[in-house]
Amino acid sequence: MDIKENGTTISLIRGDITLESTDAIVNAANSRLAGGGGVDGAIHMAGGAQIMEECRSIGGCPTGKAVITTAGLLNARYVIHTVGPIYKDGRHNEPELLESAYRSSLELALEKGLKSISFPSISTGAYGYPANDASIIALKTILEFTKANPGKLELIRFVLFSDQDYNTYSESLKKLLKTARKTA
Ligand code: ADP
Repeated sequence: MDIKENGTTISLIRGDITLESTDAIVNAANSRLAGGGGVDGAIHMAGGAQIMEECRSIGGCPTGKAVITTAGLLNARYVIHTVGPIYKDGRHNEPELLESAYRSSLELALEKGLKSISFPSISTGAYGYPANDASIIALKTILEFTKANPGKLELIRFVLFSDQDYNTYSESLKKLLKTARKTA
């Protein structure tokens, strides 16, 4: 599913983010930037040791922030490593921190002059964030970003790993667009 908002294409696809050739791909990292399972493991596995070397010299990243490295053997030029919140009950700042992880990644892409970026579904794997709630926050943050920075990024893509996640994000995007059109 592709839509255009404020000069930016927002695209949802089902797939493996390590195969993307956008300027940057985003990694759902941990705060030590130590690698791990899930999408983090897949990115380091496919990208080679260079990415981990750069992560080691950066040292870490607080929850809700983002850092950037080159992308080693991957097709993308950069990996933006962001740290989403570990979900407890939704009353420990999780929504704000998740929003901040997306926003920090987008701001870093702008600072670097990048034109395209791919996101995984941050925090909804090992970190346990309910996918439906997370998808609303992710997409809302991205829609707000395009409004504040019209046309600055050409493409913002979500690469969803399962059909279920793809369907969740598609439904959420449709809902958000409907609400936006009503209040416009
Ligand atoms: P977190 O620790 O932030 O929850 P995970 O990596 O455990 O991060 O999960 C985040 C999401 O990334 C999950 O939906 C998972 O299915 C998905 N995922 C895992 N591998 C890949 C991949 N290669 N490409 C895209 N998404 C992936």
